Amino acid sequence: MTNKSKVQKRKIIYLVKPRGFCAGVKRAVEIVEVAIRKYGVPLYVRHQIVHNRRVVADFEKQGVVFVEKINEVPKGAKIIFSAHGSPPSLYKEALQRGLTIIDATCPLVTKVHLEAKRYEKEGYFIVYLGDKDHPEPKGVLGEIKASSAVLIENLEDAKKLTLSDKKKIVILTQTTLSFDDTKEIVIYLQKQFPHLTLPPAFDICYATQNRQEAVKALAKMVDVILVVGSRESSNSKRLKDLGIACGRPTYLVDDSSQIKENWFENADKVGVTAGASTPDRLISEIVQYIRKSGVAVEELEIIHEQISFALPIKI
Ligand code: SF4
Repeated sequence: MTNKSKVQKRKIIYLVKPRGFCAGVKRAVEIVEVAIRKYGVPLYVRHQIVHNRRVVADFEKQGVVFVEKINEVPKGAKIIFSAHGSPPSLYKEALQRGLTIIDATCPLVTKVHLEAKRYEKEGYFIVYLGDKDHPEPKGVLGEIKASSAVLIENLEDAKKLTLSDKKKIVILTQTTLSFDDTKEIVIYLQKQFPHLTLPPAFDICYATQNRQEAVKALAKMVDVILVVGSRESSNSKRLKDLGIACGRPTYLVDDSSQIKENWFENADKVGVTAGASTPDRLISEIVQYIRKSGVAVEELEIIHEQISFALPIKI
């Protein structure tokens, strides 16, 4: 059977909303675009501006240089800090090197930085739930003394915590975690440490929660789910895990070259979503690829999103 005839078995593709770029990612990408127009290239960005390979590759083609270490940037140059947030030590190092910093940290990540500092000042011990290799926890935990916090990644880590000597404990989290897994861990910790404090609002951001809710609804309607996003993207990985947890075969793909036709065998309904760092053009390319045979495409809006963040006054 040819690829085309397999594709023809599908009857409909549901393109779920919300999907793709969130307000923080849109803002960070726009900051780089404005900076290119204003200052030209080479322009330096510390870490991937957002965790999407296509976004990074497109900027590289325009002359943007992505670095991990501050000392890779020539003295006196401009550097943009990524949406994921950075520890204060990097700001200090950049300034000492005479660099001009343009900060693309998402305001919702900055909120967690400020919470960490405030709770530490108030004498709290911080239990921070996040991925140890992701830049976001490194930025948040870099705001406070190592002795003021512990990083846990999952329920197993939570079960190993011994905090009986801590009078004031608060839990903060990375913005892109699984809402359901986090809830389970928080409930467990509340039972163990009844005096545990939660911040006024959950740190998992609106975009992460909305995309997860949309995938739960989508899973009830489709046979297979495609998540468009990069493996570096924490929220994209969570969407894939959630689709699987909802009982649907779910695949995370960067682009159409990673799609395997046998994923769609016996699938009449295919659901498509995308992580918060995935640009629309990539989602469109994938939809075009899998609808080659003229299969219908339907938008499925689960939650209406209208949030946007203003650009910094000075870029
Ligand atoms: S996923 Fe949430 S925290 Fe991360 S950049 Fe987007 S809005 Fe900000």
